[in-house]
Amino acid sequence: MTLFEPATGRPQAPPRAQAEKYQLLRRAFGFDGFRPGQEQVVDCLAAGRDALAVMPTGAGKSLCFQLPALMRDGLTVVVSPLLALMQNQVAALRMAGIAAGSVNSAQSREENVAAWRDAAAGRAKLLYLSPERLMNARMLAALAKLPLAMVAIDEAHCISQWGPSFRPEYEALTELRARFPHATLAAFTASADPSTRDDIAQRLFGGKVASFVTGFDRPNIALAVATKADGFRQLAAFVEARRGQCGIVYALSRHRSEEAAAMLAARDHKALAYHAGMEADQRKALLDRFLTEPGIVMVATIAFGMGIDKPDVRYVAHIDLPATMEAYYQELGRAGRDGQPADAAMFYGLNDIRMRRRFIDESQASDERKHIDRRRLDALVGYCEASTCRRRILLAYFGERAEGDCGHCDNCLTPPQVVDGSELARRVLEAVLATGQRFGTGHIVDVLTGSESERIARWRHQRLPVHGSGRDLKPAAWRSAIRQLVAAGVLDIDIGGYGALRATERGHRLLSGEGEVRLRLETLRPERPPRGRPAGQQPAGGGPSTPDEMALLQALKELRLALARENGVPAYVVFHDTTLAALATDRPATREAFARIHGIGAAKTERFAEAFLACIARFRGGAS
Ligand code: ADP
Ligand code: MG
Repeated sequence: MTLFEPATGRPQAPPRAQAEKYQLLRRAFGFDGFRPGQEQVVDCLAAGRDALAVMPTGAGKSLCFQLPALMRDGLTVVVSPLLALMQNQVAALRMAGIAAGSVNSAQSREENVAAWRDAAAGRAKLLYLSPERLMNARMLAALAKLPLAMVAIDEAHCISQWGPSFRPEYEALTELRARFPHATLAAFTASADPSTRDDIAQRLFGGKVASFVTGFDRPNIALAVATKADGFRQLAAFVEARRGQCGIVYALSRHRSEEAAAMLAARDHKALAYHAGMEADQRKALLDRFLTEPGIVMVATIAFGMGIDKPDVRYVAHIDLPATMEAYYQELGRAGRDGQPADAAMFYGLNDIRMRRRFIDESQASDERKHIDRRRLDALVGYCEASTCRRRILLAYFGERAEGDCGHCDNCLTPPQVVDGSELARRVLEAVLATGQRFGTGHIVDVLTGSESERIARWRHQRLPVHGSGRDLKPAAWRSAIRQLVAAGVLDIDIGGYGALRATERGHRLLSGEGEVRLRLETLRPERPPRGRPAGQQPAGGGPSTPDEMALLQALKELRLALARENGVPAYVVFHDTTLAALATDRPATREAFARIHGIGAAKTERFAEAFLACIARFRGGAS
């Protein structure tokens, strides 16, 4: 069934009234209200004005163009960079009774022809295309003949050469404004970096566009960072504490993603490796499993995840340092999109910083770009080494102010002790300078702790006055202090790749008694596991809690999985976890009550009410 009448050849009607906006939100999407920032963008686009919306991952950008597409007459073309994204969104829209289609290379010619016919005849409201398909001369000519209401560009940061995910195919989209002067143009991105933002505005809109930047706060995600001791053992413990939950683990390389997945699989987790070195069909099959099967742990490189709408990912763990704050934010944002508690943990070490610096230095990028990348990396390292509320730091980076401390990041839960580390720093600096700024952390720590190693002897470093000047601290403590000094810009790691430490200008000033540096005392204790919130904690208030409710929830989940398989869609396209939870606690007995549940619109009531009501009725008769 379709909620929206096809547009006939009649002259266009004026935009649907505002009041209808809420009806559509309820009827088509099953939502009772807008999330922060959505309504302004919807209003802007419904009124036919261009918009650039910057909203974090999971904020609900899709709705911002899907809803105005329904409010307006004519066709909306959606440009999306990834096939999997397109297909998922189209499946979800159709399931909600909205006439949407896509022309893409994964479909047969017949399917593509049918999708195009629906769009051309005004039967479809939304048509999803890749940038290559859209900007092809024949497609442009054909679209020019249609009443094109809007072109929405999703993942618009792909157009920016400053951004980390530039796609050359997006370049052609700069012509859109001139090609379709009467269509409304909308761009969406989660990349908050100001230079990327300006670049998008410039390239797509010639600089003239209403920009909406909202809500980088994801209060349901508990942040934690720990230094790497034995990365894999730390990961194993972290995942074990969340056994059976769906999660994503990010690793730096293909090799590491495979190793980590194998390690987890050996411990009986449903862990899969995913990386760019795999064939396209293999990747698609993995993605399908991730989306449909419960409890999968995907161990991936950054090749995985852009725009994936899987609401019940309970954690994102990084076993290597990400490239930048932006990248980190985007990746961790894939956790807890349903608003329920989720964890984002990172393990990192000095070696990670060195590798990332090297990537930047050895890249082919311009000096300007390298400069930006270094700044972004420094910001991330600063975040890792921070001793105050992590959410505050993250938000401050994106230009937002937090109301207060989050209360559930590792630093809030167990505030690290911070001390004046200037004296420690001077001892490290002296050791670094006395050995000619040619040695890495390992050797400097050996010098400080008075090691008699063969290497020390070879360089005659036992004769230096600084040799043994740091016997009062354990080697692990010195390593941590050095890492913090690098993060604080007191020391610099050599770019040549050997990791030699050097004193920066700030380091020299510190040596001459100017300024101070604060260090975390954590170093004097054993390495901390990332703490965050205890795993498996129920969200505050609401949610199934009694044994009966839990049993019903389980039955509802099984029913959902069966229906998802039957319809060939991911489980959450049928219903989100939050919707199932509401069904289990509210136990609607009638279609009307069923239709009022969060996330259930008219089409889904039509399609699923009977099966779910029957399931609930069985429990009412039996279990309770
Ligand atoms: P983004 O593209 O910004 O990363 P999505 O558009 O994929 O986010 O939406 C994330 C999730 O939020 C989806 O599961 C969607 O159904 C849900 N969502 C969007 N808008 C609302 C709303 N107003 N109320 C409740 N859930 C919403
Ligand atoms: Mg999206």
